Amino acid sequence: MLTRCAALALALIMPAGDAAVGGWQEARSTTADVALRAARWLDPVSGQIHGPSVILVVGNRITKIVPLTEFDQRSAKSLIDLGSATVLPGLIDAHVHLQIGGRPGANAAAVLRAGFTTVVDLGATSDVVLRLRDAITAGSAEGPRILAAGRWVGTKNGVCEFGGIGVEGGAERFRARVRENVAAGADLTKVCVSGWAAEAFAHPETYEIADAALTAVVAESRRLDRIVIAHAISLGGVKAAVRAGVNGLAHAAYLDGTTATALRDKGVFLIPTLASLLSTTQGPAASALQDSVAAAHRGGVQLVFGTDGGVLPHGQNAREFVAMIEAGVPANDAIRAATVNAAEALGLANELGEIGTGKIADLIAIDGNPLSDPRALSRVTFVMQQGRVVVQPR
Ligand SMILES: [Zn+2]
Repeated sequence: MLTRCAALALALIMPAGDAAVGGWQEARSTTADVALRAARWLDPVSGQIHGPSVILVVGNRITKIVPLTEFDQRSAKSLIDLGSATVLPGLIDAHVHLQIGGRPGANAAAVLRAGFTTVVDLGATSDVVLRLRDAITAGSAEGPRILAAGRWVGTKNGVCEFGGIGVEGGAERFRARVRENVAAGADLTKVCVSGWAAEAFAHPETYEIADAALTAVVAESRRLDRIVIAHAISLGGVKAAVRAGVNGLAHAAYLDGTTATALRDKGVFLIPTLASLLSTTQGPAASALQDSVAAAHRGGVQLVFGTDGGVLPHGQNAREFVAMIEAGVPANDAIRAATVNAAEALGLANELGEIGTGKIADLIAIDGNPLSDPRALSRVTFVMQQGRVVVQPR
C-alpha cells in the first residue's frame, strides 16, 4: 500500500517527460549542473556532521558528494558557495493546513522558503489545496511538494466540523467521503477520532467517531491505496484508531505504556505537533503531552515531524524542533523526524529525507549547528528544491 502511495507521489515529483530511471543513469556520467560547496553537512541518518564537501547535482538529483579537497572545478557547470552554513536534506512537515492562517498560495511559499520542501496537508474544507498542489507540480505556483488529504473526514458537529463539512450518517457516508476525496485527487486520508487535548486529558476513554465509521474509513482508504492519519489525542481514541488500523497519529496523545508498545509494534507513527498544542494547552494537560511524546520516543515509537501549520504561523514550522527538544527528544532525533522518518512514513524513503547519491536534490542550508543550537533551523540561508534554487545563498 505504501509502495503504491509512493508511486503516486512520485508521479507528482518527476517533471513531465523525465524518464526517472534512464534519465538518472545517463546523468551520472555527465558534468554536474551545479556544485554546492558547503563547510559542513549533517547526515540525519548517522547524526554525523561532515566537514568541507561539495554536493554535485544533475537535473533534480544528487549525483555525488565529495570532500572539498577532491573536488575538480571542471566537473560542474556552476558553483554555489554556501559559506559557513550547515547543509541538511530539505525538511518535511507532515501536518499542515495551507488553507488556514492566510492565503494558501502565500502560505505554501512561506513554508518552502523556511526550508520545508515537502509538506502533508492534513485537511481542508474544499479541494483548494489539491488544486494548489497541482499548480505547484505544473510549475505555475511556488511551494513545497504537497501530499494532500482533501477534506477532513469527521463526525457531524465533531472536532473537524470546519465550515459544516462533518459527515452525517453511518459508515456508508464515511466510506463515500473517502471515495469523493480520492476522486478529487487526495493522496491520503485524514480522519478525526477524538477531541482536543484538554477534553482528551479530562476524559481519557472518550472519542467521538463510531467504531463502524472509523473501520469503514480505514478499509476504504486501504482499498484505494491511501494511508490514513488520525486526529486521536485521548487514550481511548488512540486505542480505537490503532484497532482500526490507521498508519499514523496527527498529534501527540495521552498514551499509556501498553498503547505506546502497540504503536511501536504495529509501526504506527506519531506526529507530535507540540508547539501548536502547547500554545493552547496549559498545566498538567500540557506537561503530560510532553512526557508522553518523550516516553513514546524512548519506547521506539517512530516520530514524524509536523506542526499543524496554520495554527502555528506558516513559515515558523521550525519552532517545532525546539518544542520537541524541550519535551526530551534529542536534537538529531527531532531532525530525523523531519527527514528520514517522515520520508519513510510517506513511502518516499528512496527519494527524499537524506543527502545521498541518487536522492532528489532537495537541500537547505542553515546558519549554525542544529545539533547544539536547534534555533539554527529557523535561520535558513539557502533552499534548493528538485535541483532548482528557491532561496539564493546569503
Ligand atoms: Zn491539523
